[in-house]
Amino acid sequence: MEDTESGLYHLEGSSGLPINRKLIINVALTGNFSSKAANPNVPCTPEEIALDAGKCYEAGATFFHIHAREDDGKPSCRNELYEEILLKVRKKCPDGIICATTSGRVFKTFEQRSAVLDLEGDAKPDFASLSMGSMNFPTEPSINSPSMIESLAKRMAEKNVRPELEIFETGMINYATYLMRKSFFRKPLYLNLFFGLLGTMPGRFVDIVHQVNSIPAGSIWGAAGGGRFQLPINTSAIVMGGHVRVGLEDNLYYDYGKTVPATNDMLVKRIARIAGELGRPVASPSEARMILGIGVR
Ligand code: ZN
Repeated sequence: MEDTESGLYHLEGSSGLPINRKLIINVALTGNFSSKAANPNVPCTPEEIALDAGKCYEAGATFFHIHAREDDGKPSCRNELYEEILLKVRKKCPDGIICATTSGRVFKTFEQRSAVLDLEGDAKPDFASLSMGSMNFPTEPSINSPSMIESLAKRMAEKNVRPELEIFETGMINYATYLMRKSFFRKPLYLNLFFGLLGTMPGRFVDIVHQVNSIPAGSIWGAAGGGRFQLPINTSAIVMGGHVRVGLEDNLYYDYGKTVPATNDMLVKRIARIAGELGRPVASPSEARMILGIGVR
């Protein structure tokens, strides 16, 4: 029986161009709150973060979502520390795409959240995360007011840092679309759809399909899942033509039973293998840059 390509990867059309099939693996290495007490493999120092990024790069990751930690493990917004981390990550991952967080879960002021956008040269991030609204995480709220979102978006545009739009609810897609129409963002948008956290979108197929159907046409999207949702959400995204985010920020364990502490590169290797089996080989760094519409370094 002959197959038909008309239903495959519907978001990227059916042109069959190989680039459309390539998968971007985004790895969220550290996060604000993942701790060594919970999993000793969480990279915290600049050296650990860069070493982990390098291993993930070799395993097929092309996008690195970075949080900084002080020596005591607490989250940091110090730009000297980000500079050290980003330079070290660049050295290990020369063409990798670096995304710095502007999360408001710990740091509340615009100055704190935007500090990393002031870095220059090799330390300048390619992308920065930008949450599209407020929500409750399992233990505390994350507040992102319209004025904060717009200020961060403006600063990113001024600094030529692309936003990774963090989506936790359908309303946030609505807001991203509104800001796109108001010319806060240039196309294509890159959205990370996050599922499976207590207090935000659950990770059922119906939720994924609804989110994907709600994003502006032509957008690039990836999907992430909290904890046990990471693997099923990633796999769904691969089949649906999206990209994936893995990593210890979102999920500390390798297995569903939470018996095996993961490492970042274990998670990257597994999803690269599954994607290959599903006909979505991983994108090279320059292919990932092309897909996201950013220049080659
Ligand atoms: Zn993050």
